[in-house]
Amino acid sequence: MNDLPEFEIAGGWIKACRGQKNIVDPQKPYALLVEKERTASGVVEDVGIIFLTNKECPYHCLMCDLWKNTTDQTVPEEAIPNQIEWALNHLPAVKHLKLYNSGSFFDKNAIPEKDYQRIASLVSSFKTVIVESHPGFINEGCLRFRDMIKSDLQIAIGLETVNIEVLKKLNKRMTLEDFAASVNFLLENDIFTRAFILLRPPFLSESEGVFWAERSLDFAFNSGVECCVIIPVRAGNGAMDKLFETGIFSPPDLRSLEKVLEYGIEQQAGRVFADTWDLKLFSKCDKCLEDRTNRLIAMNLSQQFISRIKCTCDTL
Ligand code: SF4
Ligand SMILES: [Zn+2]
Repeated sequence: MNDLPEFEIAGGWIKACRGQKNIVDPQKPYALLVEKERTASGVVEDVGIIFLTNKECPYHCLMCDLWKNTTDQTVPEEAIPNQIEWALNHLPAVKHLKLYNSGSFFDKNAIPEKDYQRIASLVSSFKTVIVESHPGFINEGCLRFRDMIKSDLQIAIGLETVNIEVLKKLNKRMTLEDFAASVNFLLENDIFTRAFILLRPPFLSESEGVFWAERSLDFAFNSGVECCVIIPVRAGNGAMDKLFETGIFSPPDLRSLEKVLEYGIEQQAGRVFADTWDLKLFSKCDKCLEDRTNRLIAMNLSQQFISRIKCTCDTL
């Protein structure tokens, strides 16, 4: 593990490294998309994702760039249901819906609680509704929302890494005990959890990055998580770029993502997905990028091992 940077990694420094936010409209989601996902019942189905525009998350995690598409103030009441209504009019018919809000769905400064009822009536026809939350916002409020929707509710939580020292430096302000307690509380209340796991956060070498991502998968499933998503860490939020310049952070190799996905699927402990967005950032070889990307997508959808790609870059 690399030596610590000389500066103190805290919210103030992380914020000071940022550039400008994007201009967003509180009445419109900032993005919409449909992706295929293997569901818990083993079929591949389309999932709609609505990226809601709302107030910035109060946590300032070292690796997070989600603040870019947020507002400084709480959006007006009705804005979030208006965004969802607008999005549903623009999305094709899908059975599952992710409402991702660049923070915590249960943060009342992000999503006013008065909006829950209208949100619930808009999303009740979906089989599954997936929202995200930091453990700091997981409480009885989740159950009130669960009771309003007819869909299965799943909550995505960033576990990030089980390397305790690195987790502290990420400024997540969450312990592994907090994570496990939230998963347990949700499970006891019939709410499934998915965990986001970072591949090679700062301070770790390539092999340490793989090791800790695998241990994080083990921890998540042992805690009762139903599904894990492995996210290769990238620069781009200011703070991470500074750590890149000083050698404290290097993005992981695409082949490490393949390795961790293989490991996760082999455990047969639950669904494991690799985040396949913009994988060219992690590839040093143009010859095999497309094949490796297609392999990861096929493994995500089949949850089966698929033969490895052979390429001259294997020996590098
Ligand atoms: S809790 Fe999540 S959304 Fe909030 S800063 Fe951390 S990573 Fe970003
Ligand atoms: Zn190659």
